[in-house]
Amino acid sequence: MAKWVYFFGDGKAEGNGKQKELLGGKGAGLAEMTNLGIPVPPGFTITTEVCTYFYAHEGSYPTDLREQVDGALARLEGLMGRRFGDPENPLLFSVRSGARASMPGMMDTVLNLGLNDRTVEGLARVTRNPRFAWDSYRRFVAMYGDVVLGLKPKDKKEEDPFEAILERVKHETGARYDTDLSTEDLKRLTALFQEAIRTRLGVEFPQDPQEQLWGAIGAVFGSWMNDRAIAYRKLYDIPHDWGTAVNVQTMVFGNRGETSGTGVGFTRDPALGENRMYGEFLLNAQGEDVVAGIRTPRPIAELEQVLPEAYRQLVEIRNKLESHYRDMQDFEFTIEEGRLWMLQTRTGKRHPFAAARMAVDMEAEGLITEKEAVSRPEADGIAAFLAPVFDAEAKERAVREKRVIARGLPAGPGGASGRVVFNAADAEEWAGRGEKVLLVRKFTSPEDIRGMNAAQGILTAQGGMTSHAALVARQMGKVCIVGCGALDIDYGRGEMRVGDHVVREGDWLSIDGFTAEVILGQLPTRPSEVLQVLSGEQKPEESANYQKFARLMEWADKYRRLQVWTNADTPAQAEMAVKLGAQGIGLCRTEHMFFEGERIHYVRRMILSQSREDRVKALAFLFPMQKEDFTGIFRAMEGRPVTIRLLDPPLHEFLPSREALKPEVFAQKVKAVADELGVSPEEIEDRIEALHENNPMLGHRGCRLGVTYPEIYEMQIRAILEAAVEVQKEGRPVKPEIMIPIVATAREMEIFDTMARRIAREVFRKARVKVPFLVGTMIELPRACVAAGAIARHAEFFSFGTNDLTQTACGISRDDVRGFLGEYVEKEIYPADPFQRIDREGVGELMKIAVKGGRRTRRKLQIGICGEHGGEPTSVEFCHRIGLDYVSCSPFRVPVARLAAAQAALKD
Ligand code: PEP
Ligand code: MG
Repeated sequence: MAKWVYFFGDGKAEGNGKQKELLGGKGAGLAEMTNLGIPVPPGFTITTEVCTYFYAHEGSYPTDLREQVDGALARLEGLMGRRFGDPENPLLFSVRSGARASMPGMMDTVLNLGLNDRTVEGLARVTRNPRFAWDSYRRFVAMYGDVVLGLKPKDKKEEDPFEAILERVKHETGARYDTDLSTEDLKRLTALFQEAIRTRLGVEFPQDPQEQLWGAIGAVFGSWMNDRAIAYRKLYDIPHDWGTAVNVQTMVFGNRGETSGTGVGFTRDPALGENRMYGEFLLNAQGEDVVAGIRTPRPIAELEQVLPEAYRQLVEIRNKLESHYRDMQDFEFTIEEGRLWMLQTRTGKRHPFAAARMAVDMEAEGLITEKEAVSRPEADGIAAFLAPVFDAEAKERAVREKRVIARGLPAGPGGASGRVVFNAADAEEWAGRGEKVLLVRKFTSPEDIRGMNAAQGILTAQGGMTSHAALVARQMGKVCIVGCGALDIDYGRGEMRVGDHVVREGDWLSIDGFTAEVILGQLPTRPSEVLQVLSGEQKPEESANYQKFARLMEWADKYRRLQVWTNADTPAQAEMAVKLGAQGIGLCRTEHMFFEGERIHYVRRMILSQSREDRVKALAFLFPMQKEDFTGIFRAMEGRPVTIRLLDPPLHEFLPSREALKPEVFAQKVKAVADELGVSPEEIEDRIEALHENNPMLGHRGCRLGVTYPEIYEMQIRAILEAAVEVQKEGRPVKPEIMIPIVATAREMEIFDTMARRIAREVFRKARVKVPFLVGTMIELPRACVAAGAIARHAEFFSFGTNDLTQTACGISRDDVRGFLGEYVEKEIYPADPFQRIDREGVGELMKIAVKGGRRTRRKLQIGICGEHGGEPTSVEFCHRIGLDYVSCSPFRVPVARLAAAQAALKD
C-alpha cells in the first residue's frame, strides 16, 4: 500500500529532513525538528505525490488516503488526549501548504480548523477564555471563507469582504485595534462573516469538522495552480509538476493573552549577513499577523525582557538549528502561555549580498567548507557587491536640506532613485517605457512580484523585516525599505503624505537601503565599496565588504577551470575588467571606435568613395586613430590576450536612417552630412539607397565587407599589428588575436588568414621584430558550426557569437523579439529567453558540433564565447560542460562568471 501520510509528534517522526521532494520543505523541516527533540506541535504531512495524483485525476484523491488520514487523526487524538470535533474539548488544526522550494505567501493556509458553533463554546470553557475562543473562531470563518470557499475581492480595487465587515464593526464599536473588540463584538463578527458567506456565495459555512478538513486540504492542493503561484514559479524556475504537500498540525495559540505570542526569525541577519539572530514577534497574535505585515512587530531582542524563559529557549534552538543544518535558517514560532513551539524551519532566503558575506563567515567559523562557501551563493548575486550606492556628498546635502523625510527598516542594501508609482502594474508599465521607478506600497503581496522586479527599489509603510516585501526584495537583490510608518499613502489620489510633504505619482524619490532613509528627489549614485577599493579610493583593509568579496573570488579562482575574459572596447573598460578579474579580452568591437569624435567623418568619406583609391585615402586618416585605440588597450591588458574583431555592422549604420527618423529630421541629417563632406544631399541619399537592404542582419556585414572592401580589413589588421609592435617595443608583452566575424565558409576564413599573415610579414619585416598573434573566427552561423572542421584548418581560435548564433539558429531576429518571445517563454515553447540563456537543445547542440569539428582538425583549438550569454550563470555552466576554454562577458559580470565557473566545476 502506498504511503501518503507521514506522522510526526512526541519526539519521533516518520519522515526526515532529507525528504523535501516527498514532504515539501515545511513537512521535512517539521519532521527533522521533531527528530532533533525540538518542541513541535504534533501533526502529519500529506505528501506531494497526492498533489500530483490530484492533478492527474481531476481533483480526486487516492482511494486509501482517507483511511490513512483517519489513522493519523486517531493517533493525534490519543497523543493529545482531545478529540477532533469534540464539543467539550476540541482538538484544532492548522492546514498549510509546503512545496519543495519555498514560495513565500503564494499558497494558502487555514488556521483554527475544527471550530464551529458548538466547539467554540467548549474551547471557551476549557481555556476559561471566551474572548480568545471567539477571536479564533472569527479568524477561522474568514480564512475558510476566503481560502476554501473563495469569497475574496475580485480585483485589487475591491475591498476584502471580511476586512470590510471588520472595519465596520470596529468603527461602530469605536475600537481602534482588533484587540479592542469585546467577546460580544467577536461573536457578532463571526455571525456577520457567516452571513456574508451565505448571502454572497449561497452556501453555508460548514459546521462538520471533517468537511472543514477535506475542504481545506483540497484548497491547499488547489492553490498550487493559482495565478500568483504560477507566476512565482516562472520567475524562480520552479517546475509546475513538483506539487505541494499539505501539513495538518495541532494548533498552538499565540493569541491567548500577554504571555502568548508569535514570531518569525532568521538565525542570521538576512539583509546584511551579520552573525546574529534576527527576527520579530507580536504578543497576543496569530502567525499570519506577522507575515502579512499588517501590524509592525517588535524586534526579537525585546522578547528577552518580556518572556525571558521562552527567549532563552529560542536562542538555544537557534544554535541547534544552525549547527545541525550548517546554514542560515528561517523559522516560525509560537509561544502559548509561556511555552515555546517551533512551527517551521527552512533554509532562509537572503539578500544575495548577505549570501556571499555569510558564506565567507561560515567558512571562517568552521561551519562549512571552502567548497561549500563557493557553491552556495547564487552567482548572479555577487553583482550586489558592485551595486551603486549614493554619492556621499549628495546624500549629506540631502540631509542638510532636510530632504530625508522618513526612516524605515533596511531590508535590502544599496541606493536607488526612481519616480514614484503606487502599484505594481504601473511599475511594470513605466519600466517598460524605460522609466526608472520606485514602487511605494502600504505593504506588498504576492501579486506584486512582477512590479517589484521592474522597480529600482521598493518602499513599504507597514510590515517588518520578514514581511513579504522584505523577503522578496532580498531574493531579487533589490534595494528595499519596509515598515516606514511615517508614510501616509492614498492610493486613490495617487499620492502620499509624509509629515508636511506630499509626494505624488511620478515624483522623484530616493531610498537608501543601508540606512533605511527615504529622501526627496533624485540622488546621484556612486560605485560600491568594492569598486572604490578596486579603483584605489579606499583601502582594502578598511572595507569588510571588499575583503569578503576578495576571499570568495580567490576561492572561486581556485576551483574553476574556465577562464573569464571580458568584452571591452576602451582602455578604461579594459582596466576595470582586469580589476574585476578578467584574464583577457574576448571581444573588442571595433565599430564602436568608428563613431568617436571626427572619425565618423572619415568613415562616411570612406563609404561615399566611388573607387578603391578614394576609400584607401579615407582609411589612411582612420589608420592612426585605430592604431592608437589598440595601443591603449594592449597597454591596459599587460600581455593578456586581446581579441579584436574586424568591422562587423553593415555600412548603412554609419549614415542617417530613413526608417528610424522622421522625414524632416532625416532630411536635416542628410544635409548636415552632405555639407560636412562637401557633396550634394542627393548624392548622400543615393548612397543610402544603394546600401539599403531588406534584411541587413543577414546582409552585407561581417567578413562580407572584408571580401568586397578588403582595404577596410587590411587597414584594421595593419593597425592591430603595428600597435602590437609599438607596445612590444616599449618592453611590454602583447598578445593580439585577430577575429573575423560572420564567417560561414572555410574559404572566407582562408582569405583573411592569408591576408593577415601577408600584412604581418610586411609589418614585422619593417619593424624588425615579430609579435606572436592568432587569427581566428567568430562562430555565429549554423553553417559555421557544421563546417567547423574545415574552418578550423584556417582558424587558430573560435569564439561563439551566441547573439547572432541564436538569431540565425532559431530564426528569431535579435532586434525585434518583443512581439512574441515573451509569450513563447510564458507558454514554455522555449524554457527561457534564448537570447539570455543558451538554448541548449538547439544552439547548444550546434555549439557541441562546432567544438567537436574544430578540435578534430586542431586538437588544441582555443574556444571561447563572447555573446551576451558569457556572463549568465547557467550558460557559463553549459560552456564549462562542453569544454570551452573561456567565457567573455561585460566587465561588471566578470565576478559573476568567475563564481559561476567555479560552481560549475564543483558540480562535476
Ligand atoms: C554575437 O553575435 O554573439 C556577438 C558577440 O557579436 P555582436 O553582438 O556584436 O553581433
Ligand atoms: Mg555577432
